Amino acid sequence: MNKGKQLETLVHFATSIGCHVSLVPLQYNDGRVKGKRIGIRATMSIDEYVHNIAHELAHIYLHTGEVDMNDKEKEAQAEGVANLIEGILEKC
Ligand SMILES: [Zn+2]
Repeated sequence: MNKGKQLETLVHFATSIGCHVSLVPLQYNDGRVKGKRIGIRATMSIDEYVHNIAHELAHIYLHTGEVDMNDKEKEAQAEGVANLIEGILEKC
């Protein structure tokens, strides 16, 4: 699956679970999650959009309401899931 289709698939999936993905002028982060709203830094490549939407979806699935895990552990988990999702989408 090409990157454009991967991006479309992730945004469609996010929408299907009630999330809203938007491009925002973030300065210090590539992406952020607030509730079910995903903000992705607007000035990235399509490859980076795919990776960061997958990363933020992982945070929603794994870390919503999670208070015992530190930020470093959360980031490592989200990166692992994002890499897994990208690998799967590459094979589709
Ligand atoms: Zn993160």
